[in-house]
Amino acid sequence: AGRLQGKVAVITGAASGIGLGTVELFVAEGASVIAADIQDEKGAMLEKRFPGKVAYAHCDVTQEAEIEAAMKLAKSAFGGLDILFNNAGISDRMTSITEITADGWSWIFDVLVRGPALGMKHAVPLMLERGGGSIINTASIAGLQAGWGPIAYSSAKASVIHMSRAAAAQLSPQKIRVNAICPGLIATSIFGASLGLPREVADQMAARVADNAAKVQPVPKAGMPDDIAKAALYLASEDSAFVSGTHIVVDGGITVG
Ligand code: NAD
Repeated sequence: AGRLQGKVAVITGAASGIGLGTVELFVAEGASVIAADIQDEKGAMLEKRFPGKVAYAHCDVTQEAEIEAAMKLAKSAFGGLDILFNNAGISDRMTSITEITADGWSWIFDVLVRGPALGMKHAVPLMLERGGGSIINTASIAGLQAGWGPIAYSSAKASVIHMSRAAAAQLSPQKIRVNAICPGLIATSIFGASLGLPREVADQMAARVADNAAKVQPVPKAGMPDDIAKAALYLASEDSAFVSGTHIVVDGGITVG
């Protein structure tokens, strides 16, 4: 049996990159998955690929009602909720403190911080019905070191790390563990998308940043979505039963200094 046999997971940002890799791994390990995203065509394809194991929820994480509906779908489709992977994300190209607008700040924080916060809010009651659960929030090495991304992005990711600790303190006594993952440079379309490229073009250039990183980071390998999915699997499964309120850096050593 798989390590997530009988478990139900909601994964946001499930249509692409790290989220997609995690859907594939969690299903292979026996989980049923609500794939939540705003890319409806890709979501429909996932349902077809994994009949009876994956249900797609159109869920913009800036919209609380859509988050709540995705959690409820976990119960109606698969009987409950055990795992939440708050992973949906964006980056932007406004790098300097003087360029970024008030709306730019709100947009990044609404997706990267308020989204996971509301995800936890609506997941917890369902997890309590099952006697506990595991929440995993995708942060970034940009939340640990300030030089990695646009200022709003790195500020938001630092928030995600701290919010995960605060939520762990509140929820762990009720057997809900909360942890963050800090990916390094992973081959996904987020880099192209942050430049405003259409999704298809962004998908095509997904490998470039990770390939370049492989030439300079201590581990000479391009970071792939599956590398992060395996960390998410550890945090989702009982293997990490004693782990809560921390973050795992999965970055090929690029932040060793
Ligand atoms: P990606 O672009 O391949 O996937 C992100 C997914 O999130 C997409 O499917 C997109 O449609 C979805 N999404 C965007 N806005 C959304 C919204 N408002 N509501 C719901 N879904 C939304 O990128 P990725 O690299 O797989 O990103 C996943 C997470 O990993 C993000 O939180 C990102 O910040 C984080 N991360 C990525 C890297 C990297 O190098 N790729 C590094 C550190 C952290």
